[in-house]
Amino acid sequence: MTSDRQLRVGVLALQGAFREHLEYLAQAVAAAPFPGIQWHFCEVKTPAELERCDGLVIPGGESTAMSLIAQRTGMVEPLRDYCTTHPVWGTCAGLILLATTIVDGKPDQVALGALDVEVRRNAFGRQLDSFTAPVAFPWLKGEPFETVFIRAPVVTKVEPGVEVLSTVERGDGSKVVVAVRQRRVLGTSFHPELAGDYRFHRWFLSEFVVGDSASPASA
Ligand code: GLN
Repeated sequence: MTSDRQLRVGVLALQGAFREHLEYLAQAVAAAPFPGIQWHFCEVKTPAELERCDGLVIPGGESTAMSLIAQRTGMVEPLRDYCTTHPVWGTCAGLILLATTIVDGKPDQVALGALDVEVRRNAFGRQLDSFTAPVAFPWLKGEPFETVFIRAPVVTKVEPGVEVLSTVERGDGSKVVVAVRQRRVLGTSFHPELAGDYRFHRWFLSEFVVGDSASPASA
């Protein structure tokens, strides 16, 4: 018998790179266990599966397809409710889904309104479709983190209550917002599940799911 705290984190598995996130979450806790916590990671496709989770990751992929599948499977309202009461992290298409306003989206595309931001889809343009950039996130110890951008959105407007966590510089020298946080909801334009580095996932678990905001440096 174990008296460990049991925490379950789901990855929305309607479409996109959900397997990669599951793999990275598992690696993030395997590398250095969290004392007193037993983690469970699972795919989430239904409202019942969502309800069992203490936190959720919404992966990258194609936000219009995810939105359509969420509508067809009755997941839109459960997701909307879930985001108001639980830690959630959206990466790339996941960030688009979490936003309040989507620029260059499809007319019927779902915006869950969990992050009070405007995002622009495919904001780096065709010439810069995919790229990587090392970013020094102050809360991750050690080397800069290799951020991977694939047809990525950027955050173009931030309402009060939303914290800008990170920006990157474009070729023309302008800075764009690529990571934001509003309470326990996190959004990143890039794909930490493709970086070959589990620190970002570990930080999400410790800072957002365990809620250990006093020690973000433990990531
Ligand atoms: N451009 C995609 C969209 O609009 C997002 C790309 C991604 O998640 N890598 O959904």
